[in-house]
Amino acid sequence: MKKSFHYCPNCGTADITFDFRKFVCHSCEMVYYQNVATATAVILRRNDEILFTVRNKEPEFGKLDLPGGFTDTDETAEQTCQRELKEELGIEIPLENFTYLLSQPNNYEYKTIPYKTCDLIYEAVFPTDKDFVIEEEEIQDVKWMKLNEIDLNQIGFVSLRKAVEYYIKNH
Ligand SMILES: [Zn+2]
Repeated sequence: MKKSFHYCPNCGTADITFDFRKFVCHSCEMVYYQNVATATAVILRRNDEILFTVRNKEPEFGKLDLPGGFTDTDETAEQTCQRELKEELGIEIPLENFTYLLSQPNNYEYKTIPYKTCDLIYEAVFPTDKDFVIEEEEIQDVKWMKLNEIDLNQIGFVSLRKAVEYYIKNH
């Protein structure tokens, strides 16, 4: 079942509108915005290859993904990149090694609730002396793929598909 708001969380009336981005109560005049969330993704480069993760959870289970995730409160996007690479792959990369490339809007449905994100895409060179420690709850596997052998249709999220397409064209 699609979940949504049916009652005002402040006064309990059903006299509300929720148009996805904005919740309005017509009784107590509460207004609440569901703003676009910031998320990051990192193109990890090693020679002529980039690293993909294989998703181990919904949405886009089994599809190719880039390491990254939602930006926490009071965090910079570069810190998100650094933290997510540590959490997902067990590798540490200095903040100054993340180079911003472009942004892409995305849809992210989690447990039937749709979210809108703005994905900030970064590039970083893979430190060759590091081994992966994969976060198995989120990631099934990692795959290095040569730029000229990447099948964009295997990439789950449309934002990342477009970002990788842009990256291939410009590198
Ligand atoms: Zn209300």
